[in-house]
Order: sequence, then structure tokens, then C-alpha cells
Amino acid sequence: MKIHAIQTGSVRIKKTQVEGRGHGLARQLAIFGASEWTDWLPTYAWAIEHSGGVLVVDTGQGAHLLEAHKSLHPYVRWEVNFQIEREQEIGPQLRALGIGQGDINLVVLTHLHMDHDGGLGHFPNTKILVARAELESARGWRGVLRGYLPNRWPTWFDPEPLDLDPEPFGPFRASKRLNPGGDIIAVATPGHTANHISILARDDDMSYFIAGDTSYNEDLMLAGKVDGVSANETISVATLGLIKRFSEDHPTVYLPTHDPLSARRLESRSLVGQSGGHTP
Ligand SMILES: [Zn+2]
Repeated sequence: MKIHAIQTGSVRIKKTQVEGRGHGLARQLAIFGASEWTDWLPTYAWAIEHSGGVLVVDTGQGAHLLEAHKSLHPYVRWEVNFQIEREQEIGPQLRALGIGQGDINLVVLTHLHMDHDGGLGHFPNTKILVARAELESARGWRGVLRGYLPNRWPTWFDPEPLDLDPEPFGPFRASKRLNPGGDIIAVATPGHTANHISILARDDDMSYFIAGDTSYNEDLMLAGKVDGVSANETISVATLGLIKRFSEDHPTVYLPTHDPLSARRLESRSLVGQSGGHTP
């Protein structure tokens, strides 16, 4: 198995989004109008070369996000900035790695936020999986109100709904094996979005935990600190605790989408707690 971290540009958001301030609705509203931005953070997508082919996790940013400042959506317009060149989109980067469209069996999305589904246009002929309830909450004007951009999906976008089995995997209550070898597993990690999933790739004794936006970095996961966008703080704290517990029971490399240390951690196989601190 070989995992590639593919940086599809970068993003900056409000510090109150990375680490929530206050509780309940106040925590979610604290993003709006906040003055402190993070540094530019990477936006990673992932390609897993395994015995049966290539599985892509998330599709990263697309250059269309550079138009975000013109959006009528208040979050998109005011509370997030993107940097990306066309050649940094996932399609050209996969080609540069020598991975062609025909090599890719499956694309799976941790959730449908705009910096995870922005590269969908590069996969018109690939099977795409999205958690069923995530797809439902992202559709239509209700999806827009929740912070999704379904209007930016390719017209052909019709993913296969993913239903996790009620089969626990470690501490996670639901899971689904995604490849015939059974060593790539989707697990339920609700919090950042209500139906967010993470992808576990297991190679020898190591578990690579592709965490999406479960937390913005490893320290926040270890500290159990909820971000500013999760709808339900209790559920988010519980999920962060499950990931921590999993990493205590199994040698785990934790790979969130926007953690500046993710690629280095993958490269050096640094286990949870071993890569040193990071403050966004
Ligand atoms: Zn997100």
C-alpha cells in the first residue's frame, strides 16, 4: 500500500472556526465577523494505491473557489479565503504521480464541504461514494444554508450513497470495508458534519487515519477541542475521544485535511502524539 498526500492549494479561515469559542449557537456564530485569521493551511486530498487499484479520498479544492469572494453566501464571501492554481487541482496532480483515470476504482468523500468536493469534475467516470445522510443534508437550498455549495457540483454528479454497516470497528459504532482486501475501511466520525466519515487505511501494523475535518490538527483532536462549525458539541467531543482511544490501541498516523503536519507525518510515519505540537 502507498498513500499519497496531494495538496490542492491552501485555505485560511477564522481562528474561531479551527477552535470553537463558547458553546452552542454562540460558538457557531463566533466565526462571523471574527478578526483573527489562521495562517494559510494546506488542503489535502489523498490517493491510496492498494492491491486492487487506487482509491481517492476527497477531491480537494478547485480553482472555481477563487471566485468565493463574489458569493452571496455570507460564510463563503467573508469567512474563508482560498489559494489554488489549476495545475494544483487533484486531476493534474494524479496524472503527475502516474495515476490515470483508469487506475482509480473509487472516490470516497469524507463530507461534502466545498474544499473536499471541489475537484469532483476530474472524476466523471469514476464510482463516487458519499454517506447517504451527508448527501441528503448537502442538497438543495437547505444544503446551501448549512454551508454546502451543491450548485457547484458537476451536472453529472450522482454519487452512490454509502451506508455504513452497524458493525463496530474498534471504538467506532459503524463501518464499511471499501476494498476487496478489506484493509481500507470507512468509519463514522460524526461532528464536523452530522454524517462525516473518516477513512482508515491499514498497512501491516499501521493505521493511517484519513480524518477529513474531524479536527483541523492533531493537537485539537488529542485535547478534545471542538471546532466552530460542528452542530453538536457532545457528538463532536465523543468522536474526538474515539479517535484518541483508537490511536492508543493501534499504532496510528493521524491525517486531517488541513493539518500543516499531515504530509510530513505520513512521510515519516509519525504516530499520534509523536510529531510535536502545532498551534494554528
Ligand atoms: Zn469541512
